[in-house]
Amino acid sequence: MRAAVLTSPGHPLAQVDAPEPVAPEGGAVIDVLACGICHSDLHAAAGDYTTKLPVILGHEVSGRHERLGNVLVYACWGCRQPGCWACDSGQEMICPNATEAGLFKDGGYAERMAVPDEGYLVPLGDLDPAHAAPLACGGLTAYRAVDHTLATLASVARPRALVIGAGGLGQFGLQFLKIRSDAEVVVVDASAEKREQALRLGADVAVAPGEVDGLFTAVVDFVGADATLQTARDHVARQGIAVVVGLYGGTIPFGFGAVPHEARFMTSVWGTRNQLAELVALAQQHELHSEIEVIGLSQVQEAHARLESGQVTGRFVIDPTLGA
Ligand SMILES: [Zn+2]
Ligand SMILES: [Zn+2]
Repeated sequence: MRAAVLTSPGHPLAQVDAPEPVAPEGGAVIDVLACGICHSDLHAAAGDYTTKLPVILGHEVSGRHERLGNVLVYACWGCRQPGCWACDSGQEMICPNATEAGLFKDGGYAERMAVPDEGYLVPLGDLDPAHAAPLACGGLTAYRAVDHTLATLASVARPRALVIGAGGLGQFGLQFLKIRSDAEVVVVDASAEKREQALRLGADVAVAPGEVDGLFTAVVDFVGADATLQTARDHVARQGIAVVVGLYGGTIPFGFGAVPHEARFMTSVWGTRNQLAELVALAQQHELHSEIEVIGLSQVQEAHARLESGQVTGRFVIDPTLGA
């Protein structure tokens, strides 16, 4: 089968005729219908993660299963060893011995893909497989981050939520906040184009950095830089919650005097299997808007380069049947 394979970090992906995947016991092989390209694929290609090479990248995968029909793949595979507290509690995304697709096991930059457990396949129903693919990582990550804030938002009379960063994840995040809470949603982003996009997607207010006004019950930081974490600290209310998702690597001091009294600060990582199923159900009930650009397998390297340059507003989605 055709596949784009990472053979050596820092080098272009190789277009190869890869061996056909074999269904493991209890698992399945699916025909890949679409695979989103995520920023962490760029990190993997650059050699930032300890992954065994060669590997087929791609963890935002929708596909066709012979019995289940069109499915979305839950890709944060854990170790699934009995006694692992993360896997036993259904939180495989924080399993310390993760085996996630597209990093430790072959992913979706290919015509077909093996999935170790049929429980990782969420039926898509009528959802478009190309638009659904980015839900598996970008969508799910934003969904879980927003999920952490809902109880706090529901506990006050006039909740306000601040979304920092209106890229792909932030755009999902603001839509989830509008659908799942009564909060006034304010979005902050340096790009005027992204602020306009945020308003089109339902944000109540969109402002540039430095123009954020007042206090917020919840802050979700989709950037995670020093400056954005400082914005979160400056604008989260007492007893509010600040969730950081962005992997920019920023930090802020923590302790009395450094953060508002009883405000909670937490990181949020990807999402659970149950949350992916909830998200697919939500996407079936509400039309989620996401911008995608569909490409063939032969254009993957070019797409990586364009993503690296940061000049992309939407999400690339590979259709492996294109250009075959
Ligand atoms: Zn991802
Ligand atoms: Zn585990």
